[in-house]
Amino acid sequence: KISVFWFRRDLRLEDNTGLFYALQQEKDVLPIFIFDRNILDKLEERADARVDFIHSELLSIKSQLEKKGGSLLLKYGSPEKVFSELTNEYDIQSVYTNRDYEPYARERDQGVEKLLKKKGVLFLTFKDQVIFEPGEVLNNAGECYKVFTPFSRVWIEKFEQRKAQELGTPAWKNLMPSKPLPEITLEEMGFKKSHIPIPPKTAKKSLIGDYDKTRNFPAKKGTTRLGIHLRFGTISVRKLAQAASKLNETFLNQLIWREFYMTILAYYPRVVDHAFKPEYDRIPWNNDEKDFQAWCEGKTGFPIVDAGMRELNETGYMHNRVRMITASFLTKFLLVDWRWGEAYFAQKLLDYDLAANNGSWQWAAGTGTDAQPYFRIFNPDSQTEKFDPDQEYIKRWIPELETNKYPKPIVDYKFARQRALDTYKKALDK
Ligand code: FAD
Repeated sequence: KISVFWFRRDLRLEDNTGLFYALQQEKDVLPIFIFDRNILDKLEERADARVDFIHSELLSIKSQLEKKGGSLLLKYGSPEKVFSELTNEYDIQSVYTNRDYEPYARERDQGVEKLLKKKGVLFLTFKDQVIFEPGEVLNNAGECYKVFTPFSRVWIEKFEQRKAQELGTPAWKNLMPSKPLPEITLEEMGFKKSHIPIPPKTAKKSLIGDYDKTRNFPAKKGTTRLGIHLRFGTISVRKLAQAASKLNETFLNQLIWREFYMTILAYYPRVVDHAFKPEYDRIPWNNDEKDFQAWCEGKTGFPIVDAGMRELNETGYMHNRVRMITASFLTKFLLVDWRWGEAYFAQKLLDYDLAANNGSWQWAAGTGTDAQPYFRIFNPDSQTEKFDPDQEYIKRWIPELETNKYPKPIVDYKFARQRALDTYKKALDK
């Protein structure tokens, strides 16, 4: 009999909870990864940098496992079908995996668990991608917090009481001995290599130490760019949070935002396509296709917005401050539905994460958990003066800025601001 460890968004060998316990509790552990067609078939870009990244990380994990006498089984298909085949091929007694809280992942796992149960196979799940999972940080009445500040306070209290433990070295001797198993190429799955570089897996201590001072200036490298690694678990959030708690409170706070939005999504899955505050679903979006296109292409004539969109299109990254400005611009100035912007970011961001993206878009549109009223509308010019005073960031992305090739503003600032205020007010006063 063998056991299986199923990798998903935890692509590392060290400090991986489910993998650690599988190797500690079982003999003959076969690690597997399934390229899930339910997810991949929805991607528009064939040279998707995230698929390329996952693929190359897996090949690296595979070769590390082969040095330890095991291997990694790579599959392509729908997880239920793959497990149904695997249980015929191998005599499996248990499947270990780390929990994932997104609505699709939960539904998928329930399906797999049901199927395995019928065949007498145990399905064991572990907390790994967060310090506190949905349901662990609650108010005195046992309810989920709907605003960030009290959530973060309780999060920090709990974190200080119960510092996450290091897992130690996994019992590699319990890997299932195996010859190298076959590889799957990107091409076999209909994808190809991407030219977009992936940021490194480590951040300098000094960068995290200065985070509160540098993080708001998009021209600087003042944030860690670890988003993609947190998304796919190529780094351990426990290690990062430990470091953060010693180095910089503001940085630790960002990791708490990540868990706050995961909690909101898990408790209120309707936010996927509805406003968190239901009355905001009444806003009659203008949804002008041409406006939206100009925004996507970075041709609105508002330099800070266009610089951000061009950065996103070229690198798969956009600085947080500029994400806030571009999202506010789309939803408030152009009155385009936040779901359109959210979907565009989802296609492009290397660090795309449903919970964080949805929560942040709803924050920008004023429809989300934030207590701030909708009439906070970012002014692109004053944001630029504060955060890119020498236009260093803008000029990096818009070389034609001072020429007549650069487009004229597609909306008038005063008109757009008033239109947003009137539209929101009318919809909410109903
Ligand atoms: P750092 O500033 O170095 O922060 C470290 C890590 O903390 C990040 O990698 C991320 O995992 C987490 N984090 C930081 N800020 C936030 C936040 N506000 N909410 C949740 N987690 C946070 N973040 C995503 O991870 N995925 C998304 O799809 C995403 N979409 C966004 C869309 C909009 C409109 C806005 C305004 C923000 C979005 N964010 C998203 C949050 C934030 O902008 C990014 O996490 C951050 O810019 C990533 O860069 P970094 O890795 O250098 O982050």
